[in-house]
Amino acid sequence: MQLTCGQCGAPFRAADLHLDRGIAVCSACGGVQRLPVPITSDTPNASETTVKQKPQGDVPVPDRFTVEDNGQELIIRQRWFHWALLFLLFFAIAWDSFLVGWYWMLTSGPFGGNDGMPGPFKLVFFVFPIAHVAVGVGLTYFVLAGLLNSTVIRVADGILSVRHGPIPWCGNLDLPTDEIEQIYCQNKLHKSRNDDGHTTTSMQYEVHAVISGQKNKLVGGLHEADQALFVEQRLERFLNIEDRPVPGEMTAT
Ligand SMILES: [Zn+2]
Repeated sequence: MQLTCGQCGAPFRAADLHLDRGIAVCSACGGVQRLPVPITSDTPNASETTVKQKPQGDVPVPDRFTVEDNGQELIIRQRWFHWALLFLLFFAIAWDSFLVGWYWMLTSGPFGGNDGMPGPFKLVFFVFPIAHVAVGVGLTYFVLAGLLNSTVIRVADGILSVRHGPIPWCGNLDLPTDEIEQIYCQNKLHKSRNDDGHTTTSMQYEVHAVISGQKNKLVGGLHEADQALFVEQRLERFLNIEDRPVPGEMTAT
């Protein structure tokens, strides 16, 4: 059985196929695709199959996603909320409270008056936690965005738009739909460093739209391949885009 990548044409290796999840992750180009349905490890060597053949059936709507499609307008909404944010929220509250307490102490607390410590000395105490203030602001912003924000992908009136809000965030986008050549999913190894200095890697998934051979990231940071494949499938169906290889994609040697 020879399965090839619908994006770059490279033959899939055995390790690329995740039959249990019905997907293939191309080790040549990083493309993520659904497998045609009746593929199991013991499928007879009938004919050459490429994943360009659309798998049957809908990718189910993943958790935290909603979709509205009235034929004129497609809206895919993804809430950012996840439970780990609650832990970060408590952490941010503790962090910020400490800093508020610190500055209260310096301004109106025991060391507030002019009869407190001498000016230059006091200045050090004001400046000392500046980096902590920056972390506190950044963390609080991140947590609030995670709790409140959604990503909305909307297709209507010839425009595909991506909006993150209500807390402002980068990555907003407007693309003319008639110039979109392809929508495809890509995996990306995400590296993060733990407190103890160890680097952990996790797989994240992104959805890109290709215009004039240029990739435009629509959504990223997805933890499940099915989330990316869901977005791809609904957009392709609404835009009537057939799956075809991305020109200029890396090919296997
Ligand atoms: Zn590929």
